Amino acid sequence: MRLPYLLLDIDGVLIPFPDAEEACPATHIRHDVVPGGRTPDASVTIWLNPAHGPMLMGIIRIGLVTPVWCTSWRQDATTLVGPLLGLPPLPYVDLPRPQITTSHPNGYLWKRDYVDGWLGGAPTAWIDDDFTVLDHEWAEERTKRGSPTLLVQPDHRAGLHAEHLDAIEAWARRYMANASAA
Ligand SMILES: [Mg+2]
Repeated sequence: MRLPYLLLDIDGVLIPFPDAEEACPATHIRHDVVPGGRTPDASVTIWLNPAHGPMLMGIIRIGLVTPVWCTSWRQDATTLVGPLLGLPPLPYVDLPRPQITTSHPNGYLWKRDYVDGWLGGAPTAWIDDDFTVLDHEWAEERTKRGSPTLLVQPDHRAGLHAEHLDAIEAWARRYMANASAA
């Protein structure tokens, strides 16, 4: 039986947006990383919560979803960010690089059209902080057409919490129970 994907965003999910005082949650630790294609003097500062690694490994080990990065970090998610959280090298969606100045150039998340094609009819849970109403409608439509789709949307300043992964685990268990009963 095909497992649902678990699509994982990074910015606003694992790397929170700073608040008005430019502060990050006290749970997070600073790292300076050099994204692919940059010289070492062009490092980028990111803040990560070391607890997120074990949390994500928890849902990965249950084995009900296939985790895939879905982030503008692209390959750097696999080679840079994931290892800082102790995650194994996960596959990533090789998103296009559109010239856009907003996350929602057409009123919905810029990644969505590409992800829609990438998924085909596969069931998926998708964690991203940047969905709009139109994305939630897309997920409902997709589910109605027989491709169960769960969007999980953390607050971009707070990022990922255990309840988000609990919701995904419960959804995946329901999906597997329905799929094996069908
Ligand atoms: Mg994001």
